[in-house]
Amino acid sequence: MPAKHAILSASSSARWMACPPSARAESKMEDKPSIFAAEGTLAHAWGEYFLRQKYLPGTGVEPEEEMDGEMSEAVRFYVDAVSEVFEAEKAKGNHPFISVEQRLDFSPWVPKGFGTGDAVIVSDGTIEIMDLKYGKGVLVLAKDNPQLRLYALGAWWTFKDIFPFKNVRMAIVQPRLNNLDKDTLTVPELRSWGYMVKEKAALAWNGDGHRKAGPHCRFCKCRDTCGVLSRYLLDPVTGKAAETLTDDQIAEIILKAGDIKKYLTDISDYALAKAVDNGKAWPGLKVVEGRSVRKISDEGKAADVLKLNGYNDIYKPQTLKTITELEKLCGKKRFGDLMKDVIIKPKGKPTLVPASDRRPEFVSDDFDDSVL
Ligand code: SF4
Repeated sequence: MPAKHAILSASSSARWMACPPSARAESKMEDKPSIFAAEGTLAHAWGEYFLRQKYLPGTGVEPEEEMDGEMSEAVRFYVDAVSEVFEAEKAKGNHPFISVEQRLDFSPWVPKGFGTGDAVIVSDGTIEIMDLKYGKGVLVLAKDNPQLRLYALGAWWTFKDIFPFKNVRMAIVQPRLNNLDKDTLTVPELRSWGYMVKEKAALAWNGDGHRKAGPHCRFCKCRDTCGVLSRYLLDPVTGKAAETLTDDQIAEIILKAGDIKKYLTDISDYALAKAVDNGKAWPGLKVVEGRSVRKISDEGKAADVLKLNGYNDIYKPQTLKTITELEKLCGKKRFGDLMKDVIIKPKGKPTLVPASDRRPEFVSDDFDDSVL
């Protein structure tokens, strides 16, 4: 069934701004439910509940589903980040106003555009929009973030007649990456960005413009069949390859390697699902049964038989769960506190990453500076 949410949503704005026809094309495709989306929804529900309890008592409903340790810690990080802004405004003698899960209408710029501000704090001359990101797969920054800017336009539009404010502050709160990132614009700067986005939104709304691939394709629902994305990712490997690759070509392949690997997995999954679920025949391909691994169907019975026949050394020693699983159980901070004496972090292997990566450059222990 086609999606029911806004065609030009704020969360997909980086995509439809860069590739305007993607919005209409995506709206005809089915949403795929994901465990990550369900986790994010639960974290937001708990964040909303705690903020309401603290600042808007009597207005919230406790979510029915419990949180694990990791989520509980992440929600605390978010609630603390919001509270810090609110309390700092109060300490300055201002009279801040907070709204949670606030509907923000940015339709004056984007046709039928609306979104939800997780926490919006209006204070003396400034409005702050705080957006909780529960995911940890991709670091999200506030600077030049079109989703936050659309929320900011919506917040300005919603509150401009009640609270005169000059600046908008936009914050990403991404607890599982320990990321609290902020950007500030004056209202005129925000509005001038709004003029630019309005043109792009009109193109996207009408399904005009040209497809353009880039990092924004990562979550596009059209990616499985998009030829523009395929050319963008694979041309460096197949299209432009001269007899000997240039340094630029090698660097381009490495820069895109993660996206290329993901693309190859996605397109294989897509083709397999079509073949199995819809009986689609792909030229030159067929579906076979994959390699299967033998399994013991009844461990108790197997153990009894082995012991009866004199084999007693049949159990593995007890092993700890992985660090990721234990962190999920206890919460990252509590786990870190409890395990501080027993966790070691060996030096990582050298890895090629984009020059813009925040990590400092690798220095080899083997480097002999006596030769300098
Ligand atoms: S996958 Fe294709 S349609 Fe989707 S954003 Fe990328 S280029 Fe546009």
